[in-house]
Amino acid sequence: MTDCLFCKIIEGKLPSDQVYQDDQVVVFKDINPCASTHLLVVPRLHIESLNDMNESHHELLSHMMLLLPKLAKDQGLAGGFRTVVNTGKEGGQIVFHLHIHLLGGKQLPGF
Ligand code: 5GP
Ligand code: ZN
Repeated sequence: MTDCLFCKIIEGKLPSDQVYQDDQVVVFKDINPCASTHLLVVPRLHIESLNDMNESHHELLSHMMLLLPKLAKDQGLAGGFRTVVNTGKEGGQIVFHLHIHLLGGKQLPGF
């Protein structure tokens, strides 16, 4: 996807503050953080949103979910963390490349 912001970040064509990467995902800091720690867990594969997931993404989804507590631990979020996946315009999604927000570092407000 040539005009996708997160694809460009993943390809290194745009800068990011990256904290983790492997063969399936790249994790970088949100440019406009909503908490003292605010990471974006982004699959290398361009998938627009949860609405575009199917059974073939089973392993990727599992990988992303299991990675979250490891990232939280690495970030020192011993007291807990929040994960958010905005889906579609009415769900607050701005960047249409699937990503999981990982937030923490202080007491988060009620949801
Ligand atoms: P969404 O609302 O789509 O779930 O979240 C998109 C997130 O991407 C927002 O929290 C926004 O701050 C973040 N974001 C937008 N542009 C950039 C960028 O160029 N770099 C980084 N690191 N984050 C971005
Ligand atoms: Zn993309």
